[in-house]
Amino acid sequence: MENELGTPSSVAPGQVTEAWARIRGRLREEVGEVEYRSWLRQMTLSAIEGEEAVILLPTRFLRDWVRNHYGDRLRSLWGAENLGVRRIDIRVAPESRSLEAAEAAPQADGLAGAAPVARAHQTTLPLAEPLSSPPRGPEPRVPESRNDWAAPLDPRFTFDSFVVGKPNEFAHACARRVAEKPASPGFNPLFLYGGVGLGKTHLMHAIAWAISFNGQRNVAYMSAEKFMYRFIAALRSQSTMEFKESLRSVDVLMIDDLQFLIGKDNTQEEFFHTFNALVDAGKQIVVSADKSPSDLSGLEDRLRTRLGCGMVADIHATTYELRISILQAKAQGAEVEVPPRVLEFLAHKITSNVRELEGALNRLIAHANLFGRPITLESAQEVLHDILRAHDRRVTIEEIQRKVAEHYNIRLTDMSSARRARNVARPRQVAMYLAKQLTSRSLPEIGRRFGNRDHTTVMHAVSRVAELMQSDSTFAEDVELLRRMLEN
Ligand code: ADP
Ligand code: MG
Repeated sequence: MENELGTPSSVAPGQVTEAWARIRGRLREEVGEVEYRSWLRQMTLSAIEGEEAVILLPTRFLRDWVRNHYGDRLRSLWGAENLGVRRIDIRVAPESRSLEAAEAAPQADGLAGAAPVARAHQTTLPLAEPLSSPPRGPEPRVPESRNDWAAPLDPRFTFDSFVVGKPNEFAHACARRVAEKPASPGFNPLFLYGGVGLGKTHLMHAIAWAISFNGQRNVAYMSAEKFMYRFIAALRSQSTMEFKESLRSVDVLMIDDLQFLIGKDNTQEEFFHTFNALVDAGKQIVVSADKSPSDLSGLEDRLRTRLGCGMVADIHATTYELRISILQAKAQGAEVEVPPRVLEFLAHKITSNVRELEGALNRLIAHANLFGRPITLESAQEVLHDILRAHDRRVTIEEIQRKVAEHYNIRLTDMSSARRARNVARPRQVAMYLAKQLTSRSLPEIGRRFGNRDHTTVMHAVSRVAELMQSDSTFAEDVELLRRMLEN
């Protein structure tokens, strides 16, 4: 967003909507699903009046509860959005439009929020945009509203919030391209694949937001699972024609987690026909899965072939650099400071995927807020100790030596030999580095296991490998790969 320090009078409605969605999302993460649903889900944002955000709740009881228990937190979350909001006012909703709108809008997963707010505040917010524009003009931010069967989009998943690094730059570039020019030759379908928690859904939502923001295209996003349920429901109620027609009326169809359709032959068949009809009509398809089309065994051959015809882009596992960038980006908006050392610690320790990394950071921030204490390396270790332990599976130095030797195709005995040739010495250094990172052995102990070397040799190896990882991304990926293999 361009206008980070804007005052209310220069804040665009979209920014407020997004900020509000983020605040709700953040609260929900902090307090947990049950508490959120009990107390907070019914909040709606009615207006920004000067420096004050007016939040509505349907009853006095809820108003008092939220005011007493979450008032301060809401204020500081609003403050952190830098939109000029310094106070909040929590009120009981009059029989107002904003409330009706809130109730009429789909509240699936308590995530919606964005839709009703967009309507509600358009009439009350002092906006830079001309107020003469019709309050109920086109609402490009709510693409899902046109298809009752499409899933809502997460307002946090935009291109702006997606951090690009080597492992995802290709997928990101393809996604951008499709968002700018849907259905261009060579990019249809766009098939995104990669492991869990690496940003597939994020990129798909980002495409959907961008397309629906740019124009009046009809975008439908849903999980493959939902697609199947809809299809089965249509079969049951003998309304498959309607189902087909509504699907074929979209301009962009996005199906997430296609692997779910494996073994579901009828649904695959239906999808295949929809797919062909849409592509023939010049519409864009975006699909995600955990594997490439050719590795998705159990998918009908003709569908697999069709899926591989456009652009296939994979999202690789994260590298240390990307994890650091993501953490920095996510920590930036937080109202507590997260020291760089803590970010580095997290990036080193939590290598599985971005979702877990994010979860760990959020937990640290929530904890610091709750107890009003700064975040330190020690507090991080304490607060995250269960997550860290899960990641801290005991790896032995022998295992490391074996894996590294295999990987670089040298003999295991060379790990402890005196040979100094580069092709042997470098892998040995990598093994030492990994031994330091992945085990709790001391430097002298590690030295002993590598042919009785001195602890200063190990120290040198560790800093040399770290240096090389900074300057040579291929090397860094190699080391990360080894680390992951050893950790799993
Ligand atoms: P997937 O669909 O591949 O399982 P998601 O798209 O749901 O993964 O991503 C999991 C979480 O990690 C989301 O909260 C998402 O915003 C975040 N995330 C993943 N990759 C990135 C990235 N490159 N930059 C910022 N956030 C990311
Ligand atoms: Mg996903």
